[in-house]
Amino acid sequence: MVNVILIFLLILFVVAYWRINDIQRYFWQRKYQQHSLSAQDKEILRRYMPIYRQLSNEEQSRLESHIVWFLGEKRILGKDGLTVNRPMGLIVAADACLLVINQSWPLYPNVKEVLLYPSSYYVPESSRDGAGLVSYHTTIRQGESWPGGTLVLSWHDVLEGNRLPQDGHNLVFHEFAHQLDQQTGQTNGTPLLPKSITYGRWGTVFTRAYQRLKTQIAYHMPHTFHPYGATNEAEFFAVATETFIEKPRQFKHEEPELYHLMVEYFRFDPENWHPTPTF
Ligand SMILES: [Zn+2]
Repeated sequence: MVNVILIFLLILFVVAYWRINDIQRYFWQRKYQQHSLSAQDKEILRRYMPIYRQLSNEEQSRLESHIVWFLGEKRILGKDGLTVNRPMGLIVAADACLLVINQSWPLYPNVKEVLLYPSSYYVPESSRDGAGLVSYHTTIRQGESWPGGTLVLSWHDVLEGNRLPQDGHNLVFHEFAHQLDQQTGQTNGTPLLPKSITYGRWGTVFTRAYQRLKTQIAYHMPHTFHPYGATNEAEFFAVATETFIEKPRQFKHEEPELYHLMVEYFRFDPENWHPTPTF
């Protein structure tokens, strides 16, 4: 009898472990189904997030339920005396969740907290030269993404990224793209890929586009991606994500193969979020 109970418990444990995300999702759905964004919350998004206004009704409601989940599961903390109010949390969560709008909970499973500074902030750094001499200096930053699950953002730059939805810069997209990249345990520009995309195909298309950007910059040729993307593969992925969402048509024209790969990876086509230009 004891053996039967042990075997039953073992099977139960294996099934629970195997379906842990489904079980957790079920409880989250029960927990958050009573919560939804208020009319005032949606007005904030409409006013400060131009891309939200371009989403279909279905996309808006999916993003809204992601925002509710995100605000319930992640901490957003003010730094340097900044008090985080409801609109601030909404905008940060909305930008973060847009990247994973067509994915299911848990979103950004490694992310625990977002630290919000009023504006760009100073970070003390030290470096050692060839002779072993250590020098101390400070650098100014707008944001960071730590592999341990903390993001740091300048609130001023969060707002600025939303104010100009077609300039290819959005701090939240950039830093959360790093989090997607870091889900593999490495920061190298290759996120966890769906089964439909092989790592070989990603590597080939991605590296080709990255090398092309480096060449365009070296020879002062025109390019759509911000030059910061040429820093390394991780920055290229973060910059490519910003460009993908904010300048989809130029991206598609310049790097069609990478564009289609990113549509497959993110599971949305941001071209639909930008009104067709009229000439
Ligand atoms: Zn970066």
